This record gives sequence, structure tokens and C-alpha cells, in this order.
Amino acid sequence: MKTVAQLTKDDLPNFSEIWTGTYAHVDWDLVSADLLLYVQLLRVMTGIPLTISPAIGGVVRFDTPNSQHYAHRSEYPDIEDHLCKAIDVFPAPGHAARFFDQCRTSKRLGAVGLYMGTQLNGEQRPLVHIDIRAREDAMLVWTCQQSKQIVDGVEKTVRDYFYLHKSDDYSSFANIYSAVIAYDMAYRLSARLSV
Ligand SMILES: [Zn+2]
Repeated sequence: MKTVAQLTKDDLPNFSEIWTGTYAHVDWDLVSADLLLYVQLLRVMTGIPLTISPAIGGVVRFDTPNSQHYAHRSEYPDIEDHLCKAIDVFPAPGHAARFFDQCRTSKRLGAVGLYMGTQLNGEQRPLVHIDIRAREDAMLVWTCQQSKQIVDGVEKTVRDYFYLHKSDDYSSFANIYSAVIAYDMAYRLSARLSV
């Protein structure tokens, strides 16, 4: 399978920053090229600028084998590496819920998640997780509230997930979804963008 390291800046015209120091911690040779090519397509189709999360684990993760972010380098030359198929992106301020909605209409994505309580460069910004896992039928859709909590004197990041297909989760799912819509609308009003 092709990796992002085999792509050029011409393949990802809206994401030339991935070759800069901000993402030096990301091993692009362990990230699926199909994933980034699809992110580039989403960028063009939606017209919404996207910032790839520069956080550790925003693209590749090595410690969570159950995650679509997980990647593993094979020790054997004849066995392929296991590539990361997930990425976390920050849509341009005011456009997070709309980007999430557009992702939900995709036939290619396997899952999409919308996060509140996430930060980009110290600023509160909703985040969208997308991945290209194989899917049999419906896409997996969730919202997530991320928060910092002090556990035994140590600050920890806590994430509460709410899945659209679980009836028990529906009202919490909707609460976070509407909080992002309110956040987007407040930003658009303050920036005098059209609402
Ligand atoms: Zn993610």
C-alpha cells in the first residue's frame, strides 16, 4: 500500500505544511496515502480549510492497536507495514459542524467523530476525526467531549464518546453536536461571516 511519504506536494496542494517542522514528529511513511488523498479531496469538495492536528497522536499512534490511528512497522521485509488510516483535523473556525455534516455523506469514509474541548495552539477549537476503515454498511459516527481532569494529582485528558447508533447516547450526541453549531455560529457572527 502506498504511503504519504511516496506522495509529492503536487498530490496534496492544500497540505504542503506536512513537509515542514510542525509535523516532523509524524512518520509519514506509516500513513496511508489514500487517507491524505481523500483529505485533500474533502478540502476541495467542501471548500473548508483544514489544519491537520499537530498534537502527538493526531495522525500516527503506536500505543493503541485498536485505533485506526495505529501503525506498526513490520520487522520482516516481505510483510507490509501496518499503516495509519485515521487523522484528526481542525476545520477553519466557524465551519466545524458543516465539515462534519459533509463527511457524514461520504461513501469512502468508515468513521467520523466530532470533538468539543479540543485545542489548537492553546485555542479552543472543535476537531473532526476521520478514517478510511473498511465499512460494510453505515458509517460509524460519534461525538466526543474532551476535558482535562485531575486524577490523583495528575492532569489527564478524559474523553467521553457518544455514538449515533446507540439509542442511549442520542441526547448526549445531540448536545455536543449542537454545542459545536453554537460555537460555529458565535464565531461567524463575531467575524461578520454570513450565518
Ligand atoms: Zn482521531
